[in-house]
Amino acid sequence: MVGAGFAGLACAKRAAELGLSVVVVERQSKPGQHIHTTGILVREAWELWPVPDHLVRRLRTVRVYSPGLRSVDLRGDDYFFMATDTAGLLAQLAEEAAGAGAEIRFGTSFEAAGLTCRYLVGADGARSGVAEHFGLSRNRHFLAGVEWEFEPSPDDGDRIHCFVTPDHAPGYIGWFVPGVEAAQVGLAVRGNRKPNLRSFVSQVDGLFGISDRRVLERRGGLIPVGGPLRNVFTDRVLLTGDAAGLVSPLTAGGIHTAYRFGKLAGEAVADYLRGGPDPGPRVVSCHPSFGWKRAMRWAWDHLPVAQALDGGLLGRAVFKRAAEAVFFDR
Ligand SMILES: Cc1cc2nc3c(=O)[nH]c(=O)nc-3n(C[C@H](O)[C@H](O)[C@H](O)COP(=O)(O)OP(=O)(O)OC[C@H]3O[C@@H](n4cnc5c(N)ncnc54)[C@H](O)[C@@H]3O)c2cc1C
Repeated sequence: MVGAGFAGLACAKRAAELGLSVVVVERQSKPGQHIHTTGILVREAWELWPVPDHLVRRLRTVRVYSPGLRSVDLRGDDYFFMATDTAGLLAQLAEEAAGAGAEIRFGTSFEAAGLTCRYLVGADGARSGVAEHFGLSRNRHFLAGVEWEFEPSPDDGDRIHCFVTPDHAPGYIGWFVPGVEAAQVGLAVRGNRKPNLRSFVSQVDGLFGISDRRVLERRGGLIPVGGPLRNVFTDRVLLTGDAAGLVSPLTAGGIHTAYRFGKLAGEAVADYLRGGPDPGPRVVSCHPSFGWKRAMRWAWDHLPVAQALDGGLLGRAVFKRAAEAVFFDR
């Protein structure tokens, strides 16, 4: 296994639980050393893997802002999100995988590991070296995300705040999330644009009073939003998680799919090594197509949605319904 992120650890844990001898190589020196994600879990991820309460903070409402900072609140009945202590979450998952019997070699890159194994799973993220090495498909369409963690304030509330701001976040949104022991502020941009988080922080400072707070951590990374890749397996090699493009092209969320398909890969490989079918086709047949999410992404990229929000769309029931469908995965 290559990569001790959500996909690799979920796969390692499941394969070890099923009795395989599992080695994970991870180039970082400890779990969650360089976090590149906001780390919000959707409810479905939480249901797959209930993690300890001290690592999460439940958030029920999403407030969406137009470029002119008008806003509307969205609620999804019994839906919720979990902000997370993401480093703690990855450490917990690494502990669970090790507890199941997987050996995790931190500070070891795939290129230097010189592995011999009966089956290799590449869970090494958006720019997968395993994909490159074995001539498999590689992600080509990305958002670039950047986030700063600020000291928390008791007034941060329990909403996720999403900003439609084409000047700062063309192709995506900016956000403020009251996280676990931190307030997370970030944005993502399409293509080769460089995110200007400092300018976005100034724009929303009046709402949250963040510019005077200490920055605790800075994170960033690429989010593959081109949808699931075509050729993600070959003889005894399979890609999963971001390496396989398993990220929603619309919301850019990938933790749930990384965990879910990592686990499925672990099961399929265990089955194969006991004489079952080839795991590649079996896992790929379950991959999501993200059909309507791709259509919504097209609309977001090509229609003047942001301008329409300030032109009155934000207050319309049709917008609220569509936005709730996106956020609450209806
Ligand atoms: C700014 C930002 C915010 C995001 N926010 C959210 C969010 O709130 N909710 C959500 O669901 N999704 C979010 N995502 C997407 C989500 O983070 C990813 O989809 C998810 O982390 C994918 O998990 P993974 O295990 O496939 O890959 P990764 O988390 O990228 O893990 C890959 C691992 O492989 C290791 N690795 C890479 N190359 C090698 C190598 N050659 N040798 C050894 N090890 C290697 C890396 O060090 C890493 O630990 C966000 C992404 C970004 C960039």
